[in-house]
Amino acid sequence: MRRYEEDVDVAVVGAGPAGSVAAEAAARRGAQVVLIERKREVGTPVQCGGFLPEVSELEALLPRSEIPGSLADIPERYILARTRLQRIYSPSGDAKEFSVRGRVIDRRSFDRHLVWKAARAGAEVLVGTRADLGGGSLRLSGFSSGEVEAGAIIAADGPSSAIARGAGLADRRVAGVCLEYEMAGLDIDPDVVEMYFGTRSAPGGYAWIIPLGEDVANVGVGTIPARIRGRRLGDLLDSFIADHRIAKEKLRGGKVTAVMRGLVPAGGMPPAIQRDKVLLAGDAAGMVMATSGGGIPLAMVGGDIAGEVAARYISGNGSLAEYEGRIAKAMGRELENSVRIREVVEKMISSDLLMDGLFAILSPDQMKATMRGQIPRALERAHEMMAKR
Ligand SMILES: Cc1cc2nc3c(=O)[nH]c(=O)nc-3n(C[C@H](O)[C@H](O)[C@H](O)COP(=O)(O)OP(=O)(O)OC[C@H]3O[C@@H](n4cnc5c(N)ncnc54)[C@H](O)[C@@H]3O)c2cc1C
Repeated sequence: MRRYEEDVDVAVVGAGPAGSVAAEAAARRGAQVVLIERKREVGTPVQCGGFLPEVSELEALLPRSEIPGSLADIPERYILARTRLQRIYSPSGDAKEFSVRGRVIDRRSFDRHLVWKAARAGAEVLVGTRADLGGGSLRLSGFSSGEVEAGAIIAADGPSSAIARGAGLADRRVAGVCLEYEMAGLDIDPDVVEMYFGTRSAPGGYAWIIPLGEDVANVGVGTIPARIRGRRLGDLLDSFIADHRIAKEKLRGGKVTAVMRGLVPAGGMPPAIQRDKVLLAGDAAGMVMATSGGGIPLAMVGGDIAGEVAARYISGNGSLAEYEGRIAKAMGRELENSVRIREVVEKMISSDLLMDGLFAILSPDQMKATMRGQIPRALERAHEMMAKR
C-alpha cells in the first residue's frame, strides 16, 4: 500500500473515457492533476458495446460541440469493426434501416489508450484506489491511501457516482440495466448494428447486435428495471438468442466469450452538475443519449470541457460556474430531447401493437433523427395522440 497525501490543482475520480479525457485536458493546460481509479487495471472489466459513430455523425449528433481530438482520431489498432448501417426491427419483425457510419472500438484497450494519454500529459494516476468525498477533500482507500486536497474535483466515476452523492448533486434519475454477451461463431452482417424491439425479449427496452468482426458481436438487452416485472435479465437475453424469430438465425450456435452487465443513465442530467468545487462529467452527470444508451461520445465531450474549465479556474482565468453553461450549449438540447423521446416511446413500448404502429409511421430518416435526439414531427404527433388517450 502507498501513502498519497497531496494538495493538487485538479483531482479526477474515475478513469473511464470522461475522467481520462478530463485529466488530459487539465494537465495539458498546466494544472497539477491526479486521476484516481478504483480498478486495478483501467478498462477491465469492460461494460460496454463499444459502438461509436464516425466524426461526421458525431458532428450531426452534437452540432454545438467541439469534438475532442481523442474522439475524432482513434488509432486504427483500437477499432475492431466499421459499420455502415443501423437496422431496427419492430416487434412484428419488420425492418427499417438507415446509414450510420460507425466504429466499434475495443473498449478495454481504448480506455487504456486514453489513460496513457492523460499520464503522458503529466497527470499522476492512482489505480486500485477508491476515492470518497468527505468534508471537501477526497479520502483514498485501496492500493493508495491518504487524503487529497484539490482546487477542483471532477467526478467521472460512472452511473452510481459516489462523488456526486457526497457533493449532494445526485438525484434519483431513471437508469437502464443492461446485460451483454460477447459471442463468437455467429452469422451476422458484420457492418450493420441492429436493434430489436418487442415485449417478449426486451420489455420496456430493446435488444441489440453490435458486430465486433465477421462472426463476433456484442449481443445485449437493456431495459428499465420497473418494466421487467420479476423476469431476470439473463433469461430475457437467453430467450432473445434462442427464440427471437429473426435474431436466432444469426446467433444460432454462437459461443459466449464474455459477459458484461451495467447501468446506463436514461433520465438526462440532474438539476445541477456543479457545486462548490465539484464538477460532474460523463455517466456521473447523466450524459447519455436516452434514445440509444450511447454515452462514450458525450462522456468525452463533457470530460474535455470539465478539464478545460477546471484548469482555467486554477490559473485564475475563469470560474467553475461556467461549466453548466458550457455543457448546456454543447449537449443540453440533445440530451433533453433524447429523454423526451424516451418518455414518449416508453408509453408505447409496453404494447407491441403500439410499437408496430409507431414503427409504421416513422420513415428511416425520421428514425435516424429520433435516435439522434432530434424530434421528428411524426413522433410529436404520436405523443400528442398518446397525451389525449
Ligand atoms: C452493457 C453496456 C453497453 C454499452 N454500450 C455502449 C455503446 O455501444 N456505445 C456507447 O457510446 N455507450 C455504451 N454504453 C455506455 C458507456 O459505456 C458509458 O456511457 C461510458 O462508459 C461512460 O463513461 P464514463 O467515463 O462517464 O464512465 P465509466 O466508463 O463508467 O467510468 C467510470 C470509472 O470510474 C471508476 N470509479 C467508480 N467509482 C469510483 C470511485 N469511488 N473511486 C475511483 N474510481 C471509481 C470506475 O471503476 C470506472 O472505471 C454501454 C453501457 C453498458 C452498461
